[in-house]
Amino acid sequence: MDKKTLAKKLYQANKEYYKQYYIKNKKRIVARKRLHWKEHQGIRMRMVEKLKTEVFSHYSKSNPPKCTCCGESGLVFLTIDHINGGGRKHLKKHNRELRGGTVFYRWLRKNNYPKGFQVLCYNCNCAKRWSKFCPHKTLKNEK
Ligand SMILES: [Zn+2]
Ligand SMILES: [Zn+2]
Repeated sequence: MDKKTLAKKLYQANKEYYKQYYIKNKKRIVARKRLHWKEHQGIRMRMVEKLKTEVFSHYSKSNPPKCTCCGESGLVFLTIDHINGGGRKHLKKHNRELRGGTVFYRWLRKNNYPKGFQVLCYNCNCAKRWSKFCPHKTLKNEK
């Protein structure tokens, strides 16, 4: 009998035992799994935060990074903006990378921070999309 068949036989013989073990310890097993996942999520979050800080500091030329327009410095509010409004050709070429998020930030870092991007907060980014420029600019001029 080879090892594989032996293992299978052993499993078959103890199947009921494994099942009982799982039922008895289900709570513990699930809790352990959940804890494991949580710990890893923490690590993942820290890694993303580090990457974001690195990329955003580079593009906003300041550390901690801030919005080029209004100076907002909350990392969660900040986004990378395509200065010349997207550039569809570029977007198509790097479709996957430019869809945003971690993949995009990693791509920027890997490509030695290509020019043509700036750091904007969500507010300024939305405003710019809406009216081609952020109202902060006109507000500043009016002052
Ligand atoms: Zn802003
Ligand atoms: Zn603004």
